[in-house]
Amino acid sequence: MVNDWKPVIGLEIHIQLKTKSKNFSPEGYEYGAEPNTLTHPVSLAYPGTLPVVNKKVIEYATLLGLALNATIRKRFFFSRKNYFYPDLPKGYQITQYETPICENGYLHFKTGNTWKKVRIQRIQIEEDTGKSIHDIDPFYTLLDFNRAGVPLLELVTAPDINSPEEAQAFLIAVRQLVRHLGISDGNMEEGSLRCDANISLIPPGHDKPGNRVEVKNLNSFRFLRKALEYEIERQKKIYESGGTVDRETRGFDAVKGVTFSMRTKEELHDYRYFPEPDMPPFELSETTIKKLKAQLPPLPYELWKRYREELNLSEKEADFLIEDLGISRFFERALQTYGSPKSILKWLMGPVRAYLNQNSIDISDFPIPPETLARLAELVDKDVIHFTVASQKLFPLLVKEPDKNPETLIKELALDQKADESFIEQVVREVLDSYPEKIEQYHKGKTGLLGLFIGESMKKLRGKADPRKVREVVVNLLNERK
Ligand code: ADP
Ligand code: MG
Repeated sequence: MVNDWKPVIGLEIHIQLKTKSKNFSPEGYEYGAEPNTLTHPVSLAYPGTLPVVNKKVIEYATLLGLALNATIRKRFFFSRKNYFYPDLPKGYQITQYETPICENGYLHFKTGNTWKKVRIQRIQIEEDTGKSIHDIDPFYTLLDFNRAGVPLLELVTAPDINSPEEAQAFLIAVRQLVRHLGISDGNMEEGSLRCDANISLIPPGHDKPGNRVEVKNLNSFRFLRKALEYEIERQKKIYESGGTVDRETRGFDAVKGVTFSMRTKEELHDYRYFPEPDMPPFELSETTIKKLKAQLPPLPYELWKRYREELNLSEKEADFLIEDLGISRFFERALQTYGSPKSILKWLMGPVRAYLNQNSIDISDFPIPPETLARLAELVDKDVIHFTVASQKLFPLLVKEPDKNPETLIKELALDQKADESFIEQVVREVLDSYPEKIEQYHKGKTGLLGLFIGESMKKLRGKADPRKVREVVVNLLNERK
């Protein structure tokens, strides 16, 4: 029994696979290409053509299944889902019904500060339809068949999700996973990741949910959350006024922020599924599965646990590393050169992150190799160069000439700690910047504060600089700020 209204949510997610050719025909697909240029007699359903399964699709489905700890089916077949629609030239979609390739998995994902586990009921292989375009011509619906036959995986979760935020976090985790596995670009704006959400409510004092509603085609993370938030309120009101929620399919109007009825249970389609007669059942060997399992990269949850438990990183640091798994890969490689996680993180979370943001690039396009960054971190730790100088002077040079050896550069440019006066100046400036009131008091006669400024500067310089020199710089810079 629950004390409050408890949302029960299950997601059906379509993932468009990034394969060279389509699911059952040889042509490729590219979002935004000239309409009807990426077609083939098979995907246009010319009479007499026969589908041939794309092995890569099976491989990708298996990879995703393994990453989700699912059971992989070793013998499966495809089915026809029959319905009429102009963008479906065959009059049926090839999909899986009785024998989905993967079943009974789960995904751990982070929502707020906790990890949650959601069960995956099944993953099935299917094909996309063409696109009907209703808003270009005032009289006609236009058809673009480029997308017809593009491979899709449908991933169906158990109703284990209990809030709109969780649903959103789950979908983000799925996007991260498919990108990490390299099987899809997971781009919601381009439709390579799409989501339908099923939602029902358990009213206070009950232990079972009422009827569920399926909200179709939520094509952004925000719309998913908004649609669910709206449904929770809508269903609550119905129960509170003594009614029952209809089991129906609804759409989401993103402009008004409301869901609306599309069809009710009575109008449910009968798809008359039957096994696809044009393709034999497919066998997946244990050897292939093992091979794919060996290819599987470490997954966010495992990485996060390792970072926390073995490397003793903080929650924030571990979160940072798995937020973009490219960063985590970079970090792992850097660690092999220099095994001090905290020192490498200081670089990644500081100068590297700033550089990526400023240039709007991904870590995969970051010019400095992980090994070089690791060496840089080590040189700082060994007090060869101060972090401030390294990050403000050396780092920008290395970004331009990433093949250079940082040690050689330090020598060439005389950036090493002891030699660098301007570095002392910089540190002193930083220290003074953080004490505006104290500087005022100093100038008003509280000269004893000099010791504080020098002390703080020395601390920042880690005692590496000549105290007399530091004193001189502090006095000069204080005079500058009169
Ligand atoms: P169908 O065969 O009607 O599509 P499924 O059993 O395949 O039904 O479930 C479809 C989706 O609905 C799944 O994601 C599942 O988690 C979700 N679901 C099932 N029961 C509920 C419920 N009571 N509330 C919300 N979602 C639910
Ligand atoms: Mg379904």
